[in-house]
Amino acid sequence: MNSSLKFFYSSIFTAFLIIGCSRPQPPRGLPLSSELGSYGSFRWTRVITHMHTPYSYDACDSAGITGSSAEIKAGAGVINTSCSSNFREAICKNRIDYTFTTDHVDNFIFYDFSRLLLYQAGDVLINSGLGTSYYNRMVGCDGGAFAPVLSAGFETLSMIGIGLKAHLTSDPTESVRRSAYEGTTAATRVLIQSAPSEGVVIIPHTEDKSVATIQSLGPDAIELYNLHANLDPKIRKRSLGAGGYSVIGGMINYILDPFSDLAPDLAFITFLEQFSVYTSKWAQIQGAGQKITAVAAVDSHENVLAMKVADGERFDSYRRTSKIASNLVAVTSSDIDLVKTAIKNNRVLIAFEGFGSPVNFDFSATISGTAYRMGDTGTLGAQTATVRIVAPTLHPSSAQGRTAPVIRLILKRINTDGSETKLSETTNSTLTASVSTASILRAEVKITPYHLREYLGGFASYANNENIWIISNPIYLN
Ligand SMILES: [Zn+2]
Ligand SMILES: [Zn+2]
Repeated sequence: MNSSLKFFYSSIFTAFLIIGCSRPQPPRGLPLSSELGSYGSFRWTRVITHMHTPYSYDACDSAGITGSSAEIKAGAGVINTSCSSNFREAICKNRIDYTFTTDHVDNFIFYDFSRLLLYQAGDVLINSGLGTSYYNRMVGCDGGAFAPVLSAGFETLSMIGIGLKAHLTSDPTESVRRSAYEGTTAATRVLIQSAPSEGVVIIPHTEDKSVATIQSLGPDAIELYNLHANLDPKIRKRSLGAGGYSVIGGMINYILDPFSDLAPDLAFITFLEQFSVYTSKWAQIQGAGQKITAVAAVDSHENVLAMKVADGERFDSYRRTSKIASNLVAVTSSDIDLVKTAIKNNRVLIAFEGFGSPVNFDFSATISGTAYRMGDTGTLGAQTATVRIVAPTLHPSSAQGRTAPVIRLILKRINTDGSETKLSETTNSTLTASVSTASILRAEVKITPYHLREYLGGFASYANNENIWIISNPIYLN
């Protein structure tokens, strides 16, 4: 994260250390994706598309890799094992099936994938067939019952490449690697997508990219939410039209919490916002005919505030931040190549699982008995499609008090001029609508989290605020 953000938080709060709390806490992790129900013939798999390992120069309080500059450049830096184990713990606890890491190139370019994949004894490194490691199947989660996959990738100011099979160039010379990774044009996008890397290209931080820039790069996906942007005072002010420090007030209470009365995993409820600048750009791009997938980014670094809060864990821990927003990817079986293809093909459901994990969500359009789902294209002809959005329930393990949440389902059409039209909405029941004209359809689910009231202590009034819970990718009707 941005150094000004880090400095701001650190300079105010470093004197405080509070351990122990009385408030009921939400579970520390997320349920298995296999417990979220099916999606037509698909199953959900939980995916992170933006997360920094200790190999990012600014991760782990800028101490992810230590050593002299010469040692680091020689691939001989020493990894911060406590930060690396926090990273692995987050993946285990939150049952993240596929973690596509996105390291800044500054250290990344000097290391082999076997190291970038945070390999530890017992893990299984899967070879790409190119003499490089493609992914790491981690062991040790849930006593071995859950074996998440970790795959290497990178982030520049311009783009992200995830799920790489190999470095963009086999030439290890710093200047050669740097110029390959730091390209800013569609040619770099093609390089990432092509052999030997065969990565998926995502435009990060779309709040500060123009629609024209995104269109010219032609990525596979863009970020429709980014936790770092949501919080960073500079980005908020510059690109989101929001008060730079307006989110600080709520968080201060969670950080200081003199009565140890708050559940820090719910601190996000004081600031989470999915800004319309993202959906507006995405609608313009979709409306103009580019089927670019929308994803959510947690962009975790463990570099904002090392101070421990009421649950004894640092406020910005990998575990805490990586459970706020998930990408639930619809696949027919759990396979990294299928996941990458599904991301390219719009089969992604953005779910803010911090509010609770959604079970049995559905969004379909049926024409003559054939159901189409996210990423599918159905042909209407003279027929009418019956569109259904099924309200999800909360997973039994999600935090739940005495009152049920209110769940509002919204069906939207993205128009060719880049505007959006709300076609239908319903509360706490299945939405059914008829559509008889060519449309790009998407679903949103909002939640008023009354179910979290008991967990919010003195901030119970936040439970009365409606929030975004789920954003679908489109179903296309011709
Ligand atoms: Zn960021
Ligand atoms: Zn990042």
